[in-house]
Amino acid sequence: MSQIQTGLLILLLTFLGVVGYNVYLHETTPNEISYTEFVELLQTDKIITLHLKGGFVKGEDISMREFSSFIPDVPSILPLIAGKSIPVTAEKDVENLAGFMQSMVPVFLILGGYLIFSRMQKSDKSGFTRGKSSSFHPITSTNLTFNDVAGISEARTELVEIVESLKHPDKFSTLGGYIPKGVLLQGPPGTGKTLLAKAIAGEASVPFYSIGGSDFVEMFVGVGASRVRELFTEAKRNSPCIIFIDEIDAIGGKRSGGNASGSNDEREQTLNALLVEMDGFDSNQTVIIIAATNRPDILDPALLRPGRFDRQVTISLPDVKGRRKILEVHTKKIILARGINLSEIARAIPGFSGAEIANLVNEAALLAARKNKNGVELSDFEEAKDKISLGLERKNLVINEKDRRVTAYHEAGHAITAKLLPETDPVTKISIIPRGQALGLTQQVPLDDRYTYSREYLINRIKILMGGRIAEEIVFNHQTTGASNDIVTATAIASRLVCEFGMSTNIGPIAYMHEQDGFLGGNTATKPYSEKTAQLIDAETKKLIEQCYEETTELLTQHNKFLHKLAEALLVNETVDGEEMDIVHHCYINEKKIEENFKNKRKEV
Ligand code: ADP
Ligand code: ZN
Repeated sequence: MSQIQTGLLILLLTFLGVVGYNVYLHETTPNEISYTEFVELLQTDKIITLHLKGGFVKGEDISMREFSSFIPDVPSILPLIAGKSIPVTAEKDVENLAGFMQSMVPVFLILGGYLIFSRMQKSDKSGFTRGKSSSFHPITSTNLTFNDVAGISEARTELVEIVESLKHPDKFSTLGGYIPKGVLLQGPPGTGKTLLAKAIAGEASVPFYSIGGSDFVEMFVGVGASRVRELFTEAKRNSPCIIFIDEIDAIGGKRSGGNASGSNDEREQTLNALLVEMDGFDSNQTVIIIAATNRPDILDPALLRPGRFDRQVTISLPDVKGRRKILEVHTKKIILARGINLSEIARAIPGFSGAEIANLVNEAALLAARKNKNGVELSDFEEAKDKISLGLERKNLVINEKDRRVTAYHEAGHAITAKLLPETDPVTKISIIPRGQALGLTQQVPLDDRYTYSREYLINRIKILMGGRIAEEIVFNHQTTGASNDIVTATAIASRLVCEFGMSTNIGPIAYMHEQDGFLGGNTATKPYSEKTAQLIDAETKKLIEQCYEETTELLTQHNKFLHKLAEALLVNETVDGEEMDIVHHCYINEKKIEENFKNKRKEV
């Protein structure tokens, strides 16, 4: 926008503002009554309070109604009032100046608002802090509880401890307990991180300050750091309390070495301010900082040091059980038709996040309402699911035909390996619709949640993972990088099988644990075994992988007609579910039988 345009825009907004504000003022002037009415109210003792100003009276009558009236000659009514026992206040008339100032209010508001708005335009979310550029206001106790967050059982003990330390900070410190200071919630968008932070505040009934990481950095240069200080000062004054920083990666990304642009400088200043504030608490100030991110990998390691965000809680996309629980939470607010099976719905929406499930329930209710139903039916959920899935799918780019073919064979390779091998989880869905980073997916859902795995199960997992690349090789005779993630996972399983589970033939049941590679990239410098053992482990892992590779290649070559059939079905339909895959499998088996029949007959002849 050029300066002239901006100026014009401000003028226009100002004009609209003044007009709007005056309309607003007019509308909020208490109910104006006539002079006669006023005198009548006065005489019949129906007035509780009175305020005189210039030629006006304002007041409240016994039914708590506010009124105002214009009095042509004020002194003349004074004797009337004097006889009653009404509290009267009066004010000198400075109408001219006050009136002018009043009409200028919107001009200031709009100019200020425009400046702030223009800085914040880019940041979304966090409507809570928007516009309150200089002061932070907590949501005092959010009245959400852990019951509003479904499927958090794993993190629960840790979270309960945090709630306890907020509720009884003194008890914690006298016992010498260590009060957590920073908690990092990490997980994909929509998995309920914000919800959980609010629930912690609700459970402990403490104030909750919320701000988005990007709100800090998209302000004027230098403002981010001072906002951080301001926020902490405010929070300390109201301790115990919670500060929630959403998308902390916006300020907490790794500090750059060289290419510091202006905005980076700003970000680093903000991050430094945050670190300083986190280190500078007195022991009697219980302020817990909860931060959320879906990119823990890019966070500056300084943030994760002891005394800062040293508690990390990972929240993943919900599994079937989790989805069912989330459905339970959200369907409480709507009327379900009788006989609706929430487990069935949960099974049909793999990959949905909590937010998407909330959206699903809402959409389904809307659809049912539009059809004037008395309760939300399964068909409404199905329709809503299609609508939402479509939205998720459309977000991705269109991919070219070659990639589509390769992906179809790749996924078919995974699926067929899983189908043909024993001791595997059933395939519930195969898709070549890209989602996120992945071009396609093959989904297997365990019949029940497994906690122990047999050797065969693990070996077959490796084979299934390799099946993707092997199918590509068999059909196109080349390798793509699309399989790199599969290879990483397969290698990881193989290596755990050898050194952790003690399941390899040559090493046997001995666990040679690596010092765990941290989620955030620790190192494996210390190995508690000799170089010779290390070589043996590597050799065993390699052997295992190679063996899996060979056997899977053989399997897929032998059944390559099945591979072609399934890949064709995928190219046509884009997704194939478990049942449809069974049908393709049956066709394949039948054709094979017929072929063998003919072969045998020819032999006989
Ligand atoms: P995030 O902060 O991880 O992006 P939010 O907390 O903003 O996710 O989640 C958005 C909405 O999705 C929540 O307000 C809630 O309605 C729903 N939701 C997400 N996860 C859950 C869950 N585990 N249980 C219940 N509702 C959830
Ligand atoms: Zn794959």
